[in-house]
Amino acid sequence: MAAKTAAESGLNVVLLEKRQEIGEPIRCAEGVSIRSELRELITVQPDWISTEVNGVRLHSPNDDNVFMTVDNGGKEGGYILERKIFDRGLALQAACAGAKVLVKTRAIGLIRKDGLCTVSAICQGEPLQIEAPLIIGADGVESKVARWAGIDTRLKPEDIMVCAQYQVLDDSIDQEYCEFFFGNRMAPGGYVWIFPKGGRLANVGIGIQGSQSGPGEPIRLLDRFLRRRMPQAKILQIVAGGIPTSSPMNNTTSDGIMLVGDAAHQSDPLTGGGIINAMRAGVIAGETAAKAVSSGDASIAALREYEDRWRSSIGKQIEKRYHAKNFFLKLTDDDLNRLAGGLHGKDVSRMNMRDLLRFLFKQNPKLLWNVIGEKLNGLHRCAR
Ligand SMILES: Cc1cc2nc3c(=O)[nH]c(=O)nc-3n(C[C@H](O)[C@H](O)[C@H](O)COP(=O)(O)OP(=O)(O)OC[C@H]3O[C@@H](n4cnc5c(N)ncnc54)[C@H](O)[C@@H]3O)c2cc1C
Repeated sequence: MAAKTAAESGLNVVLLEKRQEIGEPIRCAEGVSIRSELRELITVQPDWISTEVNGVRLHSPNDDNVFMTVDNGGKEGGYILERKIFDRGLALQAACAGAKVLVKTRAIGLIRKDGLCTVSAICQGEPLQIEAPLIIGADGVESKVARWAGIDTRLKPEDIMVCAQYQVLDDSIDQEYCEFFFGNRMAPGGYVWIFPKGGRLANVGIGIQGSQSGPGEPIRLLDRFLRRRMPQAKILQIVAGGIPTSSPMNNTTSDGIMLVGDAAHQSDPLTGGGIINAMRAGVIAGETAAKAVSSGDASIAALREYEDRWRSSIGKQIEKRYHAKNFFLKLTDDDLNRLAGGLHGKDVSRMNMRDLLRFLFKQNPKLLWNVIGEKLNGLHRCAR
């Protein structure tokens, strides 16, 4: 999105991708929870979508379950993308806008001198150097660009979600709903998901809090879930990866550098979803790049616009969701069961997160004090 936006503004853009194919390998469950959020960013092509879902079904630890469409009051459901095709589609649009796309080209270093960045890369086995006034690091959670720019992107173990996912074939998959399963034994500090992919396929994955994980733990817990829920499932693909679930990073720019997407920890700390935020931030970065480069000033001061714009929109949301994550992490399985039990038989299809929390507090006022405590901690952190 950053390359597309910058190229549309008339900049000379080169997009580097270390893999030989854009979109491969997938490290994603491919879900976008609200269709209009994607449609507002780009014209959605039919082949980007593997299925459309009507909402989500949440499962409490004791498996009382409720239907609800989180966050959008039941107005519409989401997409499960075909990310291989989707990512390639975005690169195609960047290319159509004029960006040069270099695949199998790995950036290996970055030097900044006299207002110019020189990127060293290996392009299909050959060394390559590219000079540019501005670099946008959209190189994912293990961002090297950030390191080269001296930006600290280290995450505390409690602020990373470690994930494992299988693509499975199974007759039991409900193709109309995404399913989420909660429980501190099943997925400590996280959840298990089933995202339908059409036919009898689904992405079945687990994300657990880094501080509660150990070597091989996500796969072990995912296998246990599959044995219980889908003993006949055939596994067709394995995915592993980490997702930042932190509060907004202190700094995502440097002279001649902007970080975007997972590189800038812009994913939702509550759910781990990062596609929409990365795309939104990509547009802001592309627009800021256009102004900075055409005015001949890509200094950190000129890139302030990027910081301000993403923080006042995406960043605010991330901050709120970070507190919500910390609140949910405090809930015991009993709290979750009580919530689901209390909702049983109610029409929750139009409840959003706020209604849900209000209901939860009414049932268990002690939780309210936990939230207030969390909020005060957050304010204390900000003040420091
Ligand atoms: C298991 C799992 C499930 C997820 N499920 C969802 C979901 O359902 N919905 C959702 O919204 N989000 C989900 N996410 C998060 C989502 O995948 C990310 O937030 C999103 O992909 C971030 O996009 P990005 O462009 O910032 O980074 P990435 O998608 O990681 O892209 C970075 C790109 O940079 C390339 N690159 C890296 N280093 C270099 C280099 N040195 N030179 C050249 N190229 C380089 C990589 O090859 C890659 O193509 C999930 C993540 C995981 C791990």
